[in-house]
Amino acid sequence: MSELRYDGQVVVVTGAGGGLGKQYALFFASRGASVVVNDLGGGLKGGGNSSRKTADIVVDEIKAAGGKAVANYDSVTNGDKIIETAIQNYGRIDILLNNAGILRDVSFKNMKDQDWDLIMDVHVKGSYKCARAAWPHFRKQKFGRVVNTASAAGLFGSFGQANYSAAKLAMVGFTETLAKEGAKYNIHANVIAPIAASRMTETVMPPDILAALKPDWIVPLVAVLVHKDSEENGAIFEAGGGHIAKLRWERSSGLLLKADDSYTPGAILKKWDSVSDFKTPEYPTGVADFMGLLEKSMEMGPNDK
Ligand code: NAD
Repeated sequence: MSELRYDGQVVVVTGAGGGLGKQYALFFASRGASVVVNDLGGGLKGGGNSSRKTADIVVDEIKAAGGKAVANYDSVTNGDKIIETAIQNYGRIDILLNNAGILRDVSFKNMKDQDWDLIMDVHVKGSYKCARAAWPHFRKQKFGRVVNTASAAGLFGSFGQANYSAAKLAMVGFTETLAKEGAKYNIHANVIAPIAASRMTETVMPPDILAALKPDWIVPLVAVLVHKDSEENGAIFEAGGGHIAKLRWERSSGLLLKADDSYTPGAILKKWDSVSDFKTPEYPTGVADFMGLLEKSMEMGPNDK
């Protein structure tokens, strides 16, 4: 199979000064794309002294290898400026990788408003601002690819990460809606929950595990998802250490009762087991999937209270 190429395309990678973002930037530049390397060079917890250097180092590395790249040092909360860098330098934007991120880990008991707000700002508002600024360009050219970055912490919860978990699951709902709104314009959005060695994980995982989780190994999945020939849209993936899998919602067969005055706590309790009976599950993909159930309930007789 010939290698996937991105010639003539413009890729914006947020948080590309290190970790996963740097690997994305190097890869897409090596496969023919022009890359906007965004990073404000902040600390892991956000804030700290902004250093332009991290983005510059990546840009220099790309240029030394004969690739095309430009640095941008804005925070993702000013996503319009990042997209503007793509338009000013290359005249277009084709692929947006919303990757920038920080952590403010603290037990929920000790969490401060600032811990919550900063995480929401960088992950949720930052992803929104970049996608919102790219959107009119995507619609006009009838092509766009977005990959948003969630986390296992968002999908399953994680001790000390109530803020980060909330922001990361927000990426899933955000992506699902972009996928639905973008489909008819050939704009595809997918979301990944990566696991990789980076400054985010180096203090919480042992060295042998980290060695098996090179950030480079997230790149091939992202490369497939954003390729012009990819049909994938609105999907959730986990990836790390050579493993890739898709995740989806599963609904139990559930309890369906008549919704009238016989619909009481006692009526529910009598049949509680079927609420969490996953023997014959369904895999809903939209609100419409619920409406059939509603019609069935309306046709039923009164409940046993
Ligand atoms: P990293 O800390 O190495 O890289 C994140 C980059 O984002 C840094 O270079 C940082 O300077 C930049 N950044 C932070 N705030 C920014 C802002 N406001 N504007 C622009 N740039 C900003 O971390 P990483 O492991 O490469 O993480 C990349 C993404 O993957 C993050 O969204 C993270 O939450 C997510 N993630 C990582 C893992 C993992 O195992 N490494 C797991 C789950 C999710």
